[in-house]
Amino acid sequence: MNRINQIIRQAEQELQEQFAEIEANEEMRTRQVLDSFRKFGVSYRHFAPTTGYGYDDIGRDTLEKIYADLFHTEAALMRPHVASGTVALSLTLFGMTKPGERILSATGMPYDTLQSVIGTGKKTPPGSLKEMGIGFDCVELKDGKIDVEAAEAAITEKTTLIIAQRSRGYAWRPSLMPEAFEDLAEMIHTRHPGIRLMVDNCYGEFVRGDEPTDHGADLCVGSLIKNPGGGIAPTGGYVVGRREDIERIAYRLTAPSLGRELGSYAASYRPFYQGLFMAPHTVTQALKTALLTARVFENLGFATTPPANEQRADIIQAIRFGKPELLVAFCQGIQTASPVDSMAMPEPWDMPGYDDQVVMAAGTFVAGASIELSADGPMREPYIAYMQGGLTYTHGRIALGEALNRMLQTGAMKVQES
Ligand SMILES: *Cc1c(COP(=O)(O)O)cnc(C)c1O
Repeated sequence: MNRINQIIRQAEQELQEQFAEIEANEEMRTRQVLDSFRKFGVSYRHFAPTTGYGYDDIGRDTLEKIYADLFHTEAALMRPHVASGTVALSLTLFGMTKPGERILSATGMPYDTLQSVIGTGKKTPPGSLKEMGIGFDCVELKDGKIDVEAAEAAITEKTTLIIAQRSRGYAWRPSLMPEAFEDLAEMIHTRHPGIRLMVDNCYGEFVRGDEPTDHGADLCVGSLIKNPGGGIAPTGGYVVGRREDIERIAYRLTAPSLGRELGSYAASYRPFYQGLFMAPHTVTQALKTALLTARVFENLGFATTPPANEQRADIIQAIRFGKPELLVAFCQGIQTASPVDSMAMPEPWDMPGYDDQVVMAAGTFVAGASIELSADGPMREPYIAYMQGGLTYTHGRIALGEALNRMLQTGAMKVQES
């Protein structure tokens, strides 16, 4: 363990400047959140539970005003009833399209779960966009950037919604900065008015000083058990954008004409407020954990994306282990160092919807929360682990040490004595 401590301490020393930069961003974003809470006069009455229809639910309505304020949009839909990121995205795709129209993805194939929603997967579930007569086109990234020319060429007279994904998801590609959507947005708004640009913002919130809506995105969508929930929100999703669009999307969630007026929450709204207040800090803890992990494995000779010296657009860290036993040992180390379910031992298993077996480590307070420290990877060449989250940097650092220890114990990895 002594050698492992040395390795971690050295990486940590090499990262001091980057840590300082990330913490400066945390202060700026915390100030924005605080200013927004003050602007809307958040107080205990906003935390109170509601029942029944939830008309005039001040806790819910004020949270939505704060979300809109932080993203610089006209309106927001922020609900515990939006059960996940996929649900928020699905609501948005259905809300923003009509039969006969087409959706165009400008960042390659979208996240796995969305492929079923769209109906591009092997199996098309009933009720998919495809079944509803909504078409789908897709343009790949070029050299890790949005290919605006190719996207424009792929626009048809039926295209009404262009979608783009900020985070890498489970692909070895760069994640996109908020400003990376600017040229695409400008092309759409100047030459194809009427088409909307939606950005899947999952894992990106608060990582930088601004968000895709500051650079022309009409709609931003994400999950509350990722960044903006701050590790405290128990469930939920959000969509921010123009008032008329948010209204259409809310009609999908509740019913046409009822929209955002409806929806009570019999538990307290406090965790959503407190989570949002914590989010810039929690995201910083996750970013520092990711950076440390990248640096440590680079120093040990592994390829990482993003590399430690690169600016980050989201909280995901990918490490290419090259050997199945290393990927499994890493995930097992992360699991045994978790505050919840530390006794579980992850093994590769068949997951519905995936071609390869997957190994997963998640010992989180909120089930499935990936703003909490978690790691996983498909059991196929080149055995990449995707790691994200960490409620505290200290925990991230301890877990990394234990994962390294487990990798050494398997005998699959060696480190030289200094
Ligand atoms: C997490 C995520 C989603 C939504 O996933 P849920 O598990 O449904 O919350 C969508 N897109 C990306 C890029 C994601 O990272």
